[in-house]
Amino acid sequence: MKYVYGPIKSRRLGLSLGLSLTPYKVCNYDCVYCQLGKTSELTQERKEYIKGEDLLNELRTWIQNNAQEAKNLNYITISGSGEPLLNTKVGELITKIKGVTSIPVAVITNASLLNIAQVRQALLEVDLIVPSLDAVSIEIFKQMNRPHPDIKLEHIIEGLADLRKEFPGKIWLEVMIVRGINDGLGQIRKLKEIIVRINPDKIQINSPVRTTVEENIFPADKRKLNKIKEILGDKCEII
Ligand code: SF4
Repeated sequence: MKYVYGPIKSRRLGLSLGLSLTPYKVCNYDCVYCQLGKTSELTQERKEYIKGEDLLNELRTWIQNNAQEAKNLNYITISGSGEPLLNTKVGELITKIKGVTSIPVAVITNASLLNIAQVRQALLEVDLIVPSLDAVSIEIFKQMNRPHPDIKLEHIIEGLADLRKEFPGKIWLEVMIVRGINDGLGQIRKLKEIIVRINPDKIQINSPVRTTVEENIFPADKRKLNKIKEILGDKCEII
């Protein structure tokens, strides 16, 4: 299958079937911790990257052929091999996926396009949005996420705050912590102030445990992660 992958079991989402809305590593970030490798196309261009009907046919086929396993799925997850919100048809696809199955739909996104009202509107029907925010200082943002030069950190924060006002479903904010880059407690305290504004239902902190293509990328140590969890408060959990 080209667009459907998994199911994958994770602590975060349980059992989820993945849908990829972009070709391999079409992204507007090139995160140092990305498990998929280097971004091959660093772009801000939003377009219909894949044939939506092909994706829906694959999904229908998978559900027909795996009826028993489908019953155990916790989510159909829009994520995949790049930034899914670069796909302009994401809203239409979500509506059609909801017509194919009643399994809850989640979207994993780097949050960089949530400042666009149309993008937030496109996500209103999903059950769960998992956006990420790793930094609230421009230097750390650039070091961690190596974004497309047109992306502004303040727009991302605004977009997340607007999403909270408009979106009735669950928002679980993911923060990736990399040792020596964004694990300073001063930075985490600033992050906490921004997170209070965004008001997600949960904050999930993660640290890169699997191999990344970059050298010298290490997880934060456990004591540090516990301290970060303490600063970020009750809604925070370590993945
Ligand atoms: S946003 Fe996601 S897909 Fe894009 S580079 Fe970062 S981790 Fe990889």
